[in-house]
Amino acid sequence: TRKAAVIGAGIAGIASAIRLAVKGYVVDVFEANAYAGGKLSGFEDVTPDGQSYRFDAGPSLFTMPHLVDELFKLAGRNPADYFEYTLLDETCRYFWDDNTRLTAWADLDRFGKEIETVFGEPSIHLHQHLADSARKYAVTEKLFLHRSLHKLSTWFNRDALTGYLNLPRLGVFGTMNGANERRFNNPRLVQLFNRYATYNGSDPYQTPATMNIIPHLEYNIGAFFPKGGMVSITNSLLKLAEELGVRFHYNTYVTEIVTKDMRAVAIKFTSQTGRLPRLNQEMATTSSTESEISVVISNMDIVSTFRKLLPNARQPERILRQPKSSSGLIFYWGIKQQFAELGLHNIIFSTDYRAEFNALFGQNQVPDDPTIYLNCSAKLKPDDAPAGCENWFILLNVPNNTGQDWDAMIARARQRILQKLSHTLGTEISSLIETESILDPRSIEARTSSAQGALYGNSSNNRFAAFLRHANFSRQFKNLYFVGGSVHPGGGIPLCLLSAKIATDLV
Ligand code: FAD
Repeated sequence: TRKAAVIGAGIAGIASAIRLAVKGYVVDVFEANAYAGGKLSGFEDVTPDGQSYRFDAGPSLFTMPHLVDELFKLAGRNPADYFEYTLLDETCRYFWDDNTRLTAWADLDRFGKEIETVFGEPSIHLHQHLADSARKYAVTEKLFLHRSLHKLSTWFNRDALTGYLNLPRLGVFGTMNGANERRFNNPRLVQLFNRYATYNGSDPYQTPATMNIIPHLEYNIGAFFPKGGMVSITNSLLKLAEELGVRFHYNTYVTEIVTKDMRAVAIKFTSQTGRLPRLNQEMATTSSTESEISVVISNMDIVSTFRKLLPNARQPERILRQPKSSSGLIFYWGIKQQFAELGLHNIIFSTDYRAEFNALFGQNQVPDDPTIYLNCSAKLKPDDAPAGCENWFILLNVPNNTGQDWDAMIARARQRILQKLSHTLGTEISSLIETESILDPRSIEARTSSAQGALYGNSSNNRFAAFLRHANFSRQFKNLYFVGGSVHPGGGIPLCLLSAKIATDLV
């Protein structure tokens, strides 16, 4: 039997384990935390009188569900037996400080009418924008999303040829903001569509207009809600993996990828019972016999994989030193009231978007007037909060961690959020908070090994960004592959799932 070791039980690690198990490998997954899912995990906060609020810790927007279904089908299972989700009819509710409100509907004609009513913007602009997004997506999908960019075969086939012919349409030479300003008359619609740059932790004033492919996922394919919350993506895939015989080793931190004759032959790890791995601990156990492992897949962030697990290997500095994407500051609040104005996804915009991104990427600071994302899963899954209450997941885009004074920035941001939400909802919010947890770039880094706590690996602020992500395989060592949000094709659940497909196809 061929044995595979997967380092990390993030979503890409689990997907890789499933794909290898289907191929007949005996798979062991080593996970530093006591739980699976990495960023895509969940938890509960309980009030002193025993009331429980459930939260998804990281992702809250689910797109391209077919990539999850595909894994069940690959294993000969019926996806619906494991995992259920619904298409949202309301994509997002938008709020501005002057009480302007707009709902983005999944029904695009309805959304078009809404922008005509609220902003006087001809709805044709919306339809043109989304058609352009679909065209861009069709080109990039073939070239970038399903294949390794780093194999010659990717570049010499009919799909690639179509891709080259359509390159001028991709918008690699202009910025997202430039394209959106040309498209829409109303600055608030420009702002709304500029926000999609943040879906991969980038800056709309720098990232190429190519990134206007992102709205295609949300509007043309659709935004979905997993019936069991986002964490059910992890849980259902975990169940499938376990049924396929994959063994998960929790509280097990991999400390080294052992190489011999330019092959990855083993891994070393430490097991501990504490929640966070103690990095300097002497390794307690090694893997069975070295030559037995025929594939190693690292789902650890690529910078951490090279710096920590392969310190003696040649370091691909150009890639490892690329600027990182933004990070997130999340407040998880149990709120003892319900708000009819809020939906599942809500955005409360800043007044000056350019200043916000200048603070984020120019000054490495949390903006003074941040755009707030508020997710309330209890809107669709009422048992996520006690009766009459709501579970608020509040996310700010913040810079990645370069040693800023986070405690001070978090305290200030919390004040600003309370002011802004109290103003928008016309209710004083702070006294309604029953439970509170906070995640910031430092804890994201500690919990998932993401370099600088970046949410999506390298930023995509550069037009060559797609080529500055590490390949899904190692050029130095045979048998070694890389998956997850920090490598090709990129961050976010769909792309992480695709990384597992590309890597295991190469195995
Ligand atoms: P990660 O989730 O990064 O997990 C890596 C795992 O590997 C961790 O469990 C870690 O403990 C383990 N590990 C690392 N090193 C070792 C080691 N040496 N030994 C053992 N184990 C190790 N995406 C979306 O699609 N939609 C969203 O709405 C969205 N919102 C987000 C909001 C937040 C707050 C965050 C944090 C992320 C969000 N993302 C979103 C991004 C998405 O969560 C990630 O891109 C994706 O989950 C990353 O998966 P991954 O496979 O790269 O692994």
